Amino acid sequence: METYNPKSLRAEEFINHEEILETIRYAEENKHNLPLIDSILEKARPKQTAGGVRCAGLTHREASVLLACDIPEKVEEMYRLAEEIKLAFYGNRIVMFAPLYLSNYCINGCVYCPYHAKNKHITRKKLTQEGVRREVIALQDLGHKRLAIEAGEDPVNNPIEYILECINTIYSIKHKNGAIRRVNVNIAATTVENYRKLKEAGIGTYILFQETYHKQSYLELHPTGPKHDYAYHTEAMDRAMEGGIDDVGLGVLFGLEGYQYEFAGLLMHAEHLEAVHGVGPHTISVPRVKHADDIDPDVFDNSLSDGLFEKIIACIRIAVPYTGMIISTRESQQVREKALTLGISQISGASRTSVGGYTEEERPHDSEQFDVADQRTLDEVVNWLMELGYIPSFCTACYREGRTGDRFMSLCKSGQILNCCHPNALMTLAEYLVDYASEGTKQNGMALIGRELEKIPNDRVRALAREHIADIYSSNRRDFRF
Ligand code: SAM
Repeated sequence: METYNPKSLRAEEFINHEEILETIRYAEENKHNLPLIDSILEKARPKQTAGGVRCAGLTHREASVLLACDIPEKVEEMYRLAEEIKLAFYGNRIVMFAPLYLSNYCINGCVYCPYHAKNKHITRKKLTQEGVRREVIALQDLGHKRLAIEAGEDPVNNPIEYILECINTIYSIKHKNGAIRRVNVNIAATTVENYRKLKEAGIGTYILFQETYHKQSYLELHPTGPKHDYAYHTEAMDRAMEGGIDDVGLGVLFGLEGYQYEFAGLLMHAEHLEAVHGVGPHTISVPRVKHADDIDPDVFDNSLSDGLFEKIIACIRIAVPYTGMIISTRESQQVREKALTLGISQISGASRTSVGGYTEEERPHDSEQFDVADQRTLDEVVNWLMELGYIPSFCTACYREGRTGDRFMSLCKSGQILNCCHPNALMTLAEYLVDYASEGTKQNGMALIGRELEKIPNDRVRALAREHIADIYSSNRRDFRF
C-alpha cells in the first residue's frame, strides 16, 4: 500500500487513496461537531496582520469537514466567509476570458467527451493559421484580451509545433485597437521539454483538468489512448513547473466520481504543489459534465445538484484563499450569479466551444465540445456584471510584468491590490467600453469607473489612472498598466 506524502513526486503518494478515504470518514464523523466546525471557520477567517490582511487557508481534512457539515446556519456562515475572503483578495473585479478551440482531432477514449477517437460522426476540424487569424480577429472584435486555447490530443494532427505556431499567430495579430495579451493553454499532459517550449512561447497559465482523482474510475473513464496513464496525467503539473511554467490551473470534471473524493483530491493536489514548488495552483476550475454530441450526462451517476455545487465552490474558496477560481459558460446565468458571490474570480463570456465557432454567424453544433448554457453576448455579460456591482476586468498586467507564481501570490497577500489590480481593471474596462460596448453598457461602465476610481488609496496612482482613462476615452492610446 502507498503511504501519503504531499512532498512525493509520485501520484499515488501525493493523491493517496487511503488518505482520501480516511478524510471522508473523518469528515462524516465530525460533520455535526460544532466546536470543531467553529474552530475551522475561525482558522479560515481573514486576519489583520502587520503585513496586511492574511488568510491561513485549510487542510484537505479541515475543508472536508466543512463540506460535510449540513447545519443550515453553519452553511450560511461558510457562504458569508467565502464572500468575505473573496472580497479581501480579489475585490469586486471579475476577470474575463474566452476559450479558443484549435482542433478536435483526438486519439484518446475519454468516455464523457465527444472528441473521443471512436466518435466517427463528429466533424473533425483543425484551424489553419489563417483560420486562427480569423478567429482571433473575431474574438478581438468582441473585446477579449485573454484566451484559453483548447485542443484534443493527437501527436500527428496537433503536435506541440502546431500549438506553438498557433500561440505565435495569436500574439502577432493586432487588429484595430485589439490584442490578445495573455494566452492560457489547456492541452493534454506532455513532457518537461514541451512545457519549456510553451513557457518560451509566452503562455500564461497551463491548465489541465484532472477529470477525476479516483484512480480506478480514471482508468475506466479513459480506457484508451495516452491519457489512460493516470500517473503521467496526475504528475503533469510537476513537469510543467519543472519546465518553468509557474502558473498552473487545476480542475475536476464534477459528476464523474463522488464529489467528496474529488474535493479532497483537489485540495491534496494544491497542498502538494505548495509543498514541492512553494506555490499553489494559480487557478481552480469547476466544470460539471454537460450534454454534448454523443454524450448524455445522465449516464454518469455522480451529478451534483446546484446547491451542492455552490457549497463546493464556497469550501474551495475558504480552503485556498489566494487561488483564482474559474466558472465557464457550461453553467447558466443563474448558477454563475450565485457562484460569483461564493468565490469565483474569473468567467468566460460569449464562448463558442467548437473549432472555428467565432467566425460563424450561428452557433455551430457540429464540432462542439459541450453545450453552452450561458449563451449571452459579451456585452450582455459585461453589463450584467456591472449591474451586480462587479468590475469586469480585461487585465493581463501581472503576467506581462512578470508577476507570476509566488510573485503574484505576494501581491495578492501584500494588500497592494487596490493600488494595482483595481486601476488596471478600470483601465482595461475603459478600453472595452470605448472600443466594443453598446451605448447602454458604455454609459453604465463610465459611471462605474467614475465611482470606482475614488477607491484607489494612493493619490499618485489615482491621479495617473484618471489621466490614462481620459486618454483612452479621447484617443487610440491603449495598454496602460501598473
Ligand atoms: N485534450 C486536453 C485534455 O485532455 O486535457 C484538453 C482539454 S478539453 C479540450 C477541456 C476539458 O473539457 C476537459 O479536460 C474536460 O474536463 C472537459 N470536458 C470534456 N467533455 C465534457 C463534457 N461533456 N461536459 C463538460 N466538460 C467536458
